[in-house]
Amino acid sequence: MKLNPGLLKLDLFCRGIKIDASCDLSKDARPVLRTRGGLGSGLELILPKGLYVNAPIEEHFVKKTPYTLIKKYRDYFIKKNGHIICRIKLPARPKFYERMTTSGKLMSRIGVMQGTYLGIYPAKVCEFWQMGKKMNCQFCSVGLNVGNTEEYEKSVEEVLETVKAAQKEEGITFVHFNTGYLFGEELSILEPYIRAVKKETGLLVGVQCPPSPNLSKYDYLKKMGVDHASFCLEVYDRERFKEICPGKDKYIGQEKYWDAIEYCVKIFGKGKVAGEIIAGLENPLDTIKAIENFAKIGAISTVCIFRPCLGTALEALVPPFPEDMTPVFKKMYEVCLENRIPIGIAPNVKVSLVILPEEGKYFFQNFNINFFIMECKLSILKLLFRIYFRTRIFLKCK
Ligand code: SF4
Repeated sequence: MKLNPGLLKLDLFCRGIKIDASCDLSKDARPVLRTRGGLGSGLELILPKGLYVNAPIEEHFVKKTPYTLIKKYRDYFIKKNGHIICRIKLPARPKFYERMTTSGKLMSRIGVMQGTYLGIYPAKVCEFWQMGKKMNCQFCSVGLNVGNTEEYEKSVEEVLETVKAAQKEEGITFVHFNTGYLFGEELSILEPYIRAVKKETGLLVGVQCPPSPNLSKYDYLKKMGVDHASFCLEVYDRERFKEICPGKDKYIGQEKYWDAIEYCVKIFGKGKVAGEIIAGLENPLDTIKAIENFAKIGAISTVCIFRPCLGTALEALVPPFPEDMTPVFKKMYEVCLENRIPIGIAPNVKVSLVILPEEGKYFFQNFNINFFIMECKLSILKLLFRIYFRTRIFLKCK
């Protein structure tokens, strides 16, 4: 049977993969760097059709996985229940991971490659981890990582040097900044980093922070040249939101997320704002409701599969069943078609931590005329944006 790489990506998120003794990951692969929220705790793989996945390898549930990574001669393959199902590639260890910033810090402790983009958490630990009674989101491991697997403090110069190294060596087109909750000061803290990266590199920049209490800050963000904004709602059902994200519930509230998403779609445009949701922590029907509501206001959904990272409050849980998740990703794609939301336009932005809206086509069977019209429009938009982006970078480098 023909392999569906979208389904395989989903299955790997839900079941993880074991590493056979034939593999030489220290030589052939990106190191496993547990940074930011912890979702990157797995091994980065490139599946057929160029789909990147960060496959869990260390969590408890991986012991029962049917998948094994093996090496034969120089090539890597995935086996399922003992049978080879496909050849895959391993993205090589980025050279800049070994390099030092001028201040003497390892660049891999400043920024990390996740798929084909660079992710940076430049600020201090999320305040929800610092409160007397811990208010952190139950699945999150930022408080275990910042200051441990990554630098506690990252100066603008250190970030800029790392971004430039990743641009030169890895050809990144996109830098993604995120922070936890910092009493509403998140965007002000990110501002100098964004300014420097925009001015010096011209790369696309995405920002992911809790919603600002002052919505006009997003106008300012847009003026600075930010290309993409995303908001981690995480859980749609209000009671479940309270249980899973106590700090977000008490200090922010779901309404603020919806208000910020709606406001940002108006200024950034359709498809340039994302609502993030974690599938597997609530009934899939609630996840679908979130996806539909994001789409109604012109936002795309980025859907993570719940990963019970080691050391977190939810480490003993298991990810959802893949078969319960296929309607979720089918819907994620359908609503983009129905609401004419452009997806997958940015050049060379492949994400290993989520199934991207455009990858939702692997879950879709209704290849009607609307599908082909949308695919044609997206191809033209992609081409035009690629030309614009390359010209911008060329002019910046001159
Ligand atoms: S807001 Fe929640 S998910 Fe984000 S860093 Fe803080 S605890 Fe983690």
